[in-house]
This record gives sequence, structure tokens and C-alpha cells, in this order.
Amino acid sequence: MSYVIEGSTGPWEVVIGLEVHAQVISNAKLFSGAATEFGAEPNTQVSFVDAAFPGMLPVINRECVAQAVRTGLGLDARINLVSRFDRKNYFYADLPAGYQISQYQHPIVGEGKIEIELADGSTRQIGVTRLHLEQDAGKSLHDQHPTKSYIDLNRSGVALMEIVSEPDMRSPEEAGAYLRKLRTILRYLGTCDGNMEEGSMRADVNVSVRKHGEPFRTRCEVKNVNSVRFVMQAIEAEAKRQVEVWEGGGMVEQETRLFDVPRGITRSMRSKEDAHDYRYFPDPDLLPLVLDEAWIEELRRDLPELPDTKRARFMAEYGLPAYDSGVLVAEQATADFYETVAKGRDAKLAANWVIGDFFAALNRTGRTIETSPVSAGSLGQLLDLMADKTINGRIAKEVLEAMVETGEEPAAIVEAKGLRQVTDTGAIDAAVDKVLAANADKLAEYKAGKEKLFGFFVGQVMKAMAGKGNPALVNETLKRKLA
Ligand code: ADP
Ligand code: MG
Repeated sequence: MSYVIEGSTGPWEVVIGLEVHAQVISNAKLFSGAATEFGAEPNTQVSFVDAAFPGMLPVINRECVAQAVRTGLGLDARINLVSRFDRKNYFYADLPAGYQISQYQHPIVGEGKIEIELADGSTRQIGVTRLHLEQDAGKSLHDQHPTKSYIDLNRSGVALMEIVSEPDMRSPEEAGAYLRKLRTILRYLGTCDGNMEEGSMRADVNVSVRKHGEPFRTRCEVKNVNSVRFVMQAIEAEAKRQVEVWEGGGMVEQETRLFDVPRGITRSMRSKEDAHDYRYFPDPDLLPLVLDEAWIEELRRDLPELPDTKRARFMAEYGLPAYDSGVLVAEQATADFYETVAKGRDAKLAANWVIGDFFAALNRTGRTIETSPVSAGSLGQLLDLMADKTINGRIAKEVLEAMVETGEEPAAIVEAKGLRQVTDTGAIDAAVDKVLAANADKLAEYKAGKEKLFGFFVGQVMKAMAGKGNPALVNETLKRKLA
């Protein structure tokens, strides 16, 4: 079922295009050697270029260019061998130069695409229009002094990639899936850390509504939304507002809006500025950027295996369902962890344990794969203890809990706690006899035809054996004695 907004005149379709600003992973800024580390003391990472002292000249950082090219290749996009830097002129206190160096008509990367996966298992292709390099601005601090605003120029000049999508998305879910997928790709490539809380990835959300089959209507742009959830909420709120405007006989005006998170509504910020308002012109301090095809091929050869390819490989090589594969490849670290656990073992069982009990344990203890007290090797050993029947599946869950708490190896925990599975048929026989004797009434019902009581007996025997009975032997013994 496609996503629609129900208005008084019937259903409306939502049209969405995203402009994502992704901070480039690089030790130095786009046109200066100043550091880029997050969280430094204000104004400690500012060169004369970043502070726009007169006469300072920008020098392009080759690594930032390489990162943009890697990203373009990862998005299956055209790399433009010639691109150009322009000045985008505007006045703001955190922009000492009075212009931002950006790429306007000649971006470094052209058309590409991103495949998104939706909750119902379907996939869709979303077009990428372009990717260009630009500088970030500084930051105004309004909460440091009762009557003054301060400026922190640490971010001034940091390299950003602006990644613009086609207006191809039709629901908040698709926009969310696009952002998450883009983030995954950038993290695999190592070109942006995708950390939305720290502002290394922010989205401008363009939204319009229309009746099915109509041409596009006027859009509004909701600026600087900094989480996937807020992007989805902003789209819903903005689409509803536009439907009300159109149905109320009004016209949606093209403008820039802000998402007011606590109130869950968008508010007008300014009327939309056009390109000519910025007086774009080629930056006279910078030559056009000319790339060498051989260098691009070198970068292409060094690309890591990307999530779509990895997902397909997990399905083919390990026989995993699409869902499991998708979850496992969402983060490179998770995929690597899984492959270590699965190596030489039952791959589907390994996937079930990683996605199920192991993820649950990480969540419960507020850990991540990187800070996990349980290594992939240890989780693999736990699976081995099940495979060689030292412990059963239920006890394995208990052992994993102890591993998470203590960081100890599974075999040591099994020995220390005496959790070995009981396969001694004498002990199982005795436990079964005891349970049957203690439940004479249930036994009579079972014999009278209430066969689903079998599960009850299994449970009682397991309980009598402190969970350590070999499940297959317990079943077999019960069947024999009940026959
Ligand atoms: P600008 O440079 O003025 O921001 P663009 O043409 O580059 O304008 O478009 C910016 C974003 O707006 C793109 O992501 C594009 O997909 C999206 N967009 C364009 N038209 C519409 C529309 N009618 N509805 C929703 N999004 C749109
Ligand atoms: Mg824009």
C-alpha cells in the first residue's frame, strides 16, 4: 500500500528530495591545513585562511578530493574529470570571508543511484543528482553570555560533500531508508562517519504534495534536520500542512522552513532565495579541478566491498535470507563479526545468535560491537559447545548472559557452573519416572487422548533436571514411557 495523506478532497501523494551535507573524514580542512577534530576548544583549529585574513590563498586538499571521488564511485555515479569552485556570496557572522567556496554549475560528481530496502522486503532505486564539495561555515554560540554572541571558527573551512537526490521518494519510510542507506555506504567507504548527533551528517528535506498523476507542485525546504526520525516526522508534518493550504484554497509558497521538534510542526524561516541572490562566480583563487583517469581507477580498485554486494554474497555464500543479510551488513563491524562467527560453523545458526541473543545482550548493556565484552571468537566457541552437545540451546542463552557480564570464555563458565548437558540415560529415566509419578492426573488425561500435554511433560522433566537435560533424549524417553 503506497503512502498517502488523506485530505477532504481525497488522497494526496508526497514528493520528497533530500540534500545531505556529509562532513568529509580528513585530518585537514578543504583549503587549509588546520585540524578538524570534533569537540576541540573553540577557535583552536583555525588557520588564517579559515579566518579569511586578507591575502590568504586557499590550497585544495588532495585527500578531500579523493574522498569525494570514492563517494561518487560508491554511489555508482559519474565522476566529472573537470569541476570548478565558485564563490557563493552571503553575509553572516560565522562566515568571515563573506562567501562560501562551493561547486555550483560544475560539481565533481554527477548522476548516481542508491538502492533502498523497505519494510515489506521490496527494493527501490533513488536517483542521486550530484555530489559537490564545499566548505562548512563557523558556528555562532548564543548561549555563552547574557548579551553577546560568540563565534567559533573551528568548523570554518571543513570539507563537506553535499549529496543531492532526485525528487524520487514518496513516503517518510523511503526517505528514512535512503538516509540510513546513504549513511551505511559513507561509513563503509570511510568518507564520512555519519554521526548525525555531532552534525557530521545533516539533511535538508524538500517536500511537495500532489494529486496522483499530476505534475510536481511547489516544494518547501525544511533545513538542517539532524536525525532520521526527525526527517521522517518533518516530512509528515510538512506534507499535512501543504495539503491543508491547498485544500483551504491557498497556494504553497516556495520557502525555507525549520522543523520545531517539540511541537512537531514546521515553521517558516525565510522565503526561498534563488541562485542569483548569491552572485555565484568562479573563485579566482582556484584553478579548475582536473582529475586524472588513472588516479580514479586506482581509487576504484581500492574500494571496499560495499553493502549491496556484501548482502548478495551473504545470501549466496551462507544461504541467509535477505532480511538477515540486510541486518548483518548494515555496519561493516557487524558483518566482520558475523563472518568470524560463521566461519566453519552452521551459518544460519550463527546469524540467529548474532542478530538475536547477542544483539539483545549488547542493547541491554548499552554496548556496541566495538565495545562488546564478547568477542566473535568466544561466541563461536559457544556455538561449538552446542554443536558437540556439551550444552543445549537453553543453557547456551544462560552462558551468553554470563559471558556478557564477566567477559569469560564459555567453556570456563560451563565448567564452573556445572552446566554440562546430561546425556546419561539413567538420570533421564529417573527424572521422567519422577515427573510421571507426581502428575498422575495429567498422565490419565494424556492417556485419554489429550496429546498436547506432551509439551507439559517435557517442560517438567527439563525443570527437574535444572534445564540441563539433552532435549532429544528427554523427548525420546518420554515418548517411550508414555507409549
Ligand atoms: P535548489 O538548488 O534551489 O535547492 P534543486 O533543483 O537543486 O534546487 O533541488 C533541490 C532538492 O529539491 C533536490 O533534492 C530535488 O530532488 C528536490 N526537489 C525539486 N523539486 C521538488 C518538488 N517539486 N518536490 C519535492 N522535492 C523537490
Ligand atoms: Mg538547496
